[in-house]
Amino acid sequence: MHTPEQFKDLYYTYIHNAEDRKMIEEAYEFAKKKHEGQFRKSGEPFFQHPLEVAYIIGELNGGPVTIASALLHDVVEDTDATVEELAEKFGDEVAKIVDSLTKIQRLKLSHRSEDEFVYEDHRKIFLGMAKDVRVILVKLADRLHNMRTVDSLSPERQRALAKETLEVFAPIAHRLGIYRIQSELQDLSLRVLEPKIYQKIVKLVNERTKNRKSNLEDFKKRIADILFKDKIPFRMESRVKSIYSIYRKMYEKGHNFADIYDVLAIRITTNTEQNCYAILGHVHQLYTPIPGRFKDYIAVPKPNMYQSLHTSIVAGDGLTYEVQIRTEEMDQIAEDGIAAHWRYKEGSHYNAREEQKEIEERLHWFRDFVSMSDTNQSAPAKEYMDTLTQDVFEANVYVFTPLGKVIDLPAGSTPLDFAYKIHTKVGDSCVGALINGVGVPLNTALKTGDICEIRTAKNAPGPNESWLNIAKTNSAKGHIRRALQKKDAEIMKAEKVKAGKQACTDSFKTQGVEEAEMERMLSEKRVLDEYHAESLEDLYVMMSNKNPTPGAVIQFLGVRKKADPAELVKKYASSGSKSQAGDSNPIEVPGGVTNLAISLANCCNPIPGDDVIGYISKGKGIVVHRVNCPNITRLSKRLIPVYWKQDLGVSTYPVDLEITASDRNNLLADIISCLGAKNCPCQDLRAHLVTETMNTVVNVTIRVTDSHLLEDVIASVSGVRGVFKVTRVIH
Ligand code: MN
Repeated sequence: MHTPEQFKDLYYTYIHNAEDRKMIEEAYEFAKKKHEGQFRKSGEPFFQHPLEVAYIIGELNGGPVTIASALLHDVVEDTDATVEELAEKFGDEVAKIVDSLTKIQRLKLSHRSEDEFVYEDHRKIFLGMAKDVRVILVKLADRLHNMRTVDSLSPERQRALAKETLEVFAPIAHRLGIYRIQSELQDLSLRVLEPKIYQKIVKLVNERTKNRKSNLEDFKKRIADILFKDKIPFRMESRVKSIYSIYRKMYEKGHNFADIYDVLAIRITTNTEQNCYAILGHVHQLYTPIPGRFKDYIAVPKPNMYQSLHTSIVAGDGLTYEVQIRTEEMDQIAEDGIAAHWRYKEGSHYNAREEQKEIEERLHWFRDFVSMSDTNQSAPAKEYMDTLTQDVFEANVYVFTPLGKVIDLPAGSTPLDFAYKIHTKVGDSCVGALINGVGVPLNTALKTGDICEIRTAKNAPGPNESWLNIAKTNSAKGHIRRALQKKDAEIMKAEKVKAGKQACTDSFKTQGVEEAEMERMLSEKRVLDEYHAESLEDLYVMMSNKNPTPGAVIQFLGVRKKADPAELVKKYASSGSKSQAGDSNPIEVPGGVTNLAISLANCCNPIPGDDVIGYISKGKGIVVHRVNCPNITRLSKRLIPVYWKQDLGVSTYPVDLEITASDRNNLLADIISCLGAKNCPCQDLRAHLVTETMNTVVNVTIRVTDSHLLEDVIASVSGVRGVFKVTRVIH
């Protein structure tokens, strides 16, 4: 217990500015007045608690704002004081710190559950909410005093508090390098959780210290003699390892107490790094070092900034001692960690953001500590690094699922990020969100402590383009992009199914087969197997690519128009006309019709590979059209199925193409050379400029052997710079 005078003496030693002192005094009086009439469980006036918390901050040489915040840390939670009132009286900084502390207090983390993961979450939430190292320092001091006075609580409450201290607060003190607070928190917790073991270790340590007292003195004297001679300034003390770290070595790592080298350590503090190494040399000259026990944390500091030389030696009594050698500055950092760095310097202005940044740069562990989501690994490296280097205190929000699980996300994240973080399926089927039970738009930014619930639906429309702007995390964006691509692929497939089906329906109609009957036939297993199609849809997609063509399928099925072609010819064609095409005729008419003239229509210019149909015209014999030629009326009774012969040789057939392109120099030359390269020179070429659009339209007639070559040519011409459309013309 400290008196008000002791407290004042403490901060007067390093805070000299009159205004700063005045603020602390006012905070002191304000808190004392507000807590008047309140008592702790132990019976003492409540105000003793904030006073002790402020004293601990003073021992760490905390600045006036931190001390005032320590004095005021419970007034908003436990009295009628408000944050606004504090802001007015003590400034925004104090008000903000107390506000954060109050919010952390209200989360009542320890009520949730007690497993490992939850404690890990609590550490994250605590750091996420703290946002300011001063908040963490006051909270640690608060907890330290509560643990020092834990005896007045019920045994259950003692255990709960000790457990939480060990799992949540001691690790934070450790990560911040505040060894002084860390070891005391651990020892106090162990005393509550394992009282028998605690007492046993205390006894063992006392015995060893007592037995070694004279040896220790001898050691100190020999070292001191040499250092005096060398005029190396030094301070030497013996230090006992913390009870908790001995406990861990004995009960978690299974060591015997006798085997623990560093229960008793000798610490030598000097002024410069150079002298540290000089002292080490003397120590190793006087005593035998134990191989493998030397560690140079000066050259390679620990992640929490700890620096020191460690070595273990065998002294004259045959017993081992650990020797720690460091500078005064290193010693301060070893004891107080971040707090040492934060030590109040008169006249220097505190810049929270800048200093947080500096700390983050110094503390490598922060990167693992406020861990980024593992899915971010796949994001491009630069984005990943950017995410990492964001100010970590500000970087994360911790949001609860309705079941109390914590999801951590970058600041600014929305319910969509939350949904995708839970599961891709939850994201894809998201239709809305509730935050703290209230429906909100999907672009609402989440805050630490929010309970977020995602509404999903089985037939949810799923992601759309706008979701890419709503989601903040790369992983959610990635999932959304993938879902959109999948949707596009589905739409494309649907279009292909439609096109294939249309082409097929057209062809089958010419054979007098209606759509329903066609679908039945195509669904037969033998048809699907023939073309290695998995389903009817699949077959349609294949047919939209003309592989197979509807004609080929019709041939495979043996579908024939019921009417006998010979009959048709007899009925409609004028007799006597003869086939003029002779052997060079590429078309075959079923039913042994050979005595009619056969010609290819010059409106649609069919070429081998096209799906075709014959039209029996009076006087002209059979004119072969493409099945989709608008010039044949599908319902005409004069239609007759015709097929391309199998081996057609090298004959070529004319095709009219219309090429639309943006106007540029050398366009025609490029098109002509492209056609030449495909070995189908232009027979005729006309070009004109469409003035409204400034596009050039080129009409060209080429000769090709079959539809495969034509497709190849069309693809090739489409690739000429400026060309954006190539169509086959039907006159
Ligand atoms: Mn408190």
